[in-house]
This record gives sequence, structure tokens and C-alpha cells, in this order.
Amino acid sequence: MSEIILKAHNITRSYFEGKVQTDVLKNVNIDIYSDKLTAIIGKSGSGKSTLLHILGTLDTPTSGELIYKGEDLTKFSSNKKAEFRNQNLGFVYQFHHLLGDFSALENVMMPLLIGGISTKEAKERATSYLEKVGLSHRINYKPSEMSGGERQRVAIARALSNKPNIILADEPTGNLDAQNASDIFDLFMDLAKNEHVAVVMVTHDNGLAQKCDLVYQMKDGVINAN
Ligand code: ADP
Ligand code: MG
Repeated sequence: MSEIILKAHNITRSYFEGKVQTDVLKNVNIDIYSDKLTAIIGKSGSGKSTLLHILGTLDTPTSGELIYKGEDLTKFSSNKKAEFRNQNLGFVYQFHHLLGDFSALENVMMPLLIGGISTKEAKERATSYLEKVGLSHRINYKPSEMSGGERQRVAIARALSNKPNIILADEPTGNLDAQNASDIFDLFMDLAKNEHVAVVMVTHDNGLAQKCDLVYQMKDGVINAN
């Protein structure tokens, strides 16, 4: 059954420059569900990335709570936040950030090896994630030898490698054509429905957003269910 895995409660985020205060997020409330694909839409500068960073504990709100399994993550030390991220989160960005000198397989293996997993197991797991994103035929290709859509799928396989239960994706289809964007959407929907992953996707693509389970709109730091 669908359950709330992450709950942001009355989140505000303000920046201060001298005496000037800019309120980027204003009392944002959002519930993230374990088996839903949630879209966040809104104009450039409306606060979408800031919210995603806060949901991912990469940024700390000025006030408000971020509740995961009954605990307020905003109160965690930076070490505990890093541990939380490693154990639970997968990040996907507009730009894939793959390492150009390494193959798809090596790129997906890298975080596993850094996490202390043996080469043999890292290879097996990376191979299976690449298979999951439909790239079995590309495992030995370097990023420069793949299409934009394929590179983004490698980045998703890498995000999946630590078995996240929440994926935070910031405009993951921003650089892709309609067909590749649709493929990424299908992959996220599959992860939500069949692997019980909570997927949060910031997107400019209203067509894709409307196909998501839940749509939130950000406007000048205020969020509303759409
Ligand atoms: P979006 O992702 O919706 O385009 P952002 O969350 O990146 O929007 O930014 C929201 C607002 O916060 C913008 O007006 C931006 O200028 C401001 N902002 C983001 N980061 C900072 C920062 N480090 N200092 C001051 N203002 C910032
Ligand atoms: Mg942004």
C-alpha cells in the first residue's frame, strides 16, 4: 500500500545578504509516497531545486521539519545526513555527470566500489541495473559513444545502485527529446509501481507531469497541489 515515506512540514528557506532577506520557500508542505511518481512543476526561479535539495538533505531549511520514519532529518548531524543519503536516496540531475573516461559499467560500479562492495558483486549489481534501464547492449560504451537518452539512463542506473527508496530527479529529461523523455518517465513509473520507490521529478514538461500520480506546482516559493 501507498505510504508517506517523507514528509516536509512548513518548510521555509530564506537567504540573507546583509539586511536583505529573500524568501525562496514559504511554508512548503509536501508528502512523498513510497509508490508514487510525484511531479514538481513551476517557472524557473520558483524554488523547485531548492526544495529538492532540502528533501534530499543537501540543504537545510531555515525553519520546518523533514520527517522520515518519525525522525526530523533537519536535526541530524552532517554525518548522519550523509549516511541517510547513502542508504536511502538516489539523485538524478539534468546533466548526467558521468565520468567520461569510464564505461557505463564502470560508472555504475564506481559508487558501489567506493561503498566497499567487492569488485565481483559491484559488477554483477551494476550489470543488472544497466539491464533494468535497457542498456545491456551498452555496458562497455563510454558516455561519448552513447546518445543523450542512454547517458541519462546510465545516470539512473547509477542512482539505483545503492537501492534507494527515494529518487530525487531535477529536470532529468531537460536535455532529451520527447521519445527519450517518455522512456525515462516510463522507467520512473516502473520503479514506483514495481519496486516501491518514491520518485520525485522536477520537470518543465507539463505533458509528462500530468501523467504522474501527483503534481505540485511551485510559484514564488509557494507550493500547491495541482
Ligand atoms: P528553480 O529550480 O525553480 O529554477 P531555484 O530553487 O534554483 O529555482 O531558485 C529559487 C530562487 O532562489 C531563485 O530566485 C534563486 O535566485 C534563489 N537562490 C537559489 N540559491 C540561492 C543562493 N545560494 N543565494 C541566494 N539566492 C538563491
Ligand atoms: Mg532548478
